[in-house]
Amino acid sequence: MAGIYVHIPFCKSKCSYCDFASFPDKLCFAESYMACVYREMAFRKEELKNYSFDTLYIGGGTPSIIDENYIAMLVSAARKNFNLAKDAEITIEMNPGTVSAKKIETYKKCGINRFSIGLQTAIDSQLKDLGRIHTLNEFVYCTKLLKGENFSVDVMIGLKNQTAEDVEKTIEVAAAFGASHISMYALTPEDGTPIYTDYLNGELPDSDEVAKVYEIGVKKLESLGFDRYEVSNFCKKGKESKHNLNYWQRGEYIGFGVAASSHINNVRFTNTFDLDEYFKCVLSNHLPVINSEEVGAVEREEEYIMLALRTAKGLNLKKYFELFNKNFEEEYAVALKKNAEYMQINGDYIKIKNEYLFVQNSIIVEFFK
Ligand code: SF4
Repeated sequence: MAGIYVHIPFCKSKCSYCDFASFPDKLCFAESYMACVYREMAFRKEELKNYSFDTLYIGGGTPSIIDENYIAMLVSAARKNFNLAKDAEITIEMNPGTVSAKKIETYKKCGINRFSIGLQTAIDSQLKDLGRIHTLNEFVYCTKLLKGENFSVDVMIGLKNQTAEDVEKTIEVAAAFGASHISMYALTPEDGTPIYTDYLNGELPDSDEVAKVYEIGVKKLESLGFDRYEVSNFCKKGKESKHNLNYWQRGEYIGFGVAASSHINNVRFTNTFDLDEYFKCVLSNHLPVINSEEVGAVEREEEYIMLALRTAKGLNLKKYFELFNKNFEEEYAVALKKNAEYMQINGDYIKIKNEYLFVQNSIIVEFFK
């Protein structure tokens, strides 16, 4: 199994917490940009001819801000250049402030079968504070257009003035309007973003408060029939994101567009974050890659452990043995003993206990050599 990721770096305006490759003032370049993405795909056609792809994920930025016909052409370019399975999971990220019935109709027609909506919070004052361009009403409108479709909703915790009840309400709204998948992420105040000032001023909840809200959110999600399958991801039965599952299993994926990263044949590489540089490279028939690194044996093992322990199922002991020819319990006897109270064994799996999943980072580092 392998995945394709395409980055669409345009947005209407910059959210106060955004640290992603997104350019609010460059939408006029969308047509040229998409032409370069189709071209970049063609550059990789020969190299990837023996790969079979099961997922295509169109992320950003705000993919739903550009003309829907470019998206349809993108899906067809992916099919033309690569072996993308007929029943592939094809996801597009959407901002509720940029959707229309026509756009969604075009997405469905071209084969998009999964939608990811960035709601973040159902409280309008908090949306405004985050610099989001939409309201709760626009989210509701978007879900009505998606009636009967498979869609995921992003929920953010750790916001200024956000109560546990606000998070519960956001989850309830997402569930009531038909979400089959919910991603619940904690806000990370990155240095250089406007929200970092709020963080420095002590206006954001501290990590203990966020952890409490997360637990309340988990209970609410479970009560509404969403099972946790990764620390930040919850879904109705059978509605896991295949694309993300592939990341968490250290699978292979190829990324196209500005800032897209890839993992192919044990090499990780990333495209330039600079839009002008991206155009220059592709138009002069060069790949826009700025760094490329072979993943060594130790990193491969660490990545595998880190990603597996973030999932609710945990690390498969048999699979670990097959991949690394070592017994996990013997290899990590010291770390396992030290963290015994936080971990449990379920058949072939070893996992971080549910109540400690949110603080998994401090446990996982114990398994790094
Ligand atoms: S919509 Fe997403 S990518 Fe665009 S500015 Fe906001 S957080 Fe960044």
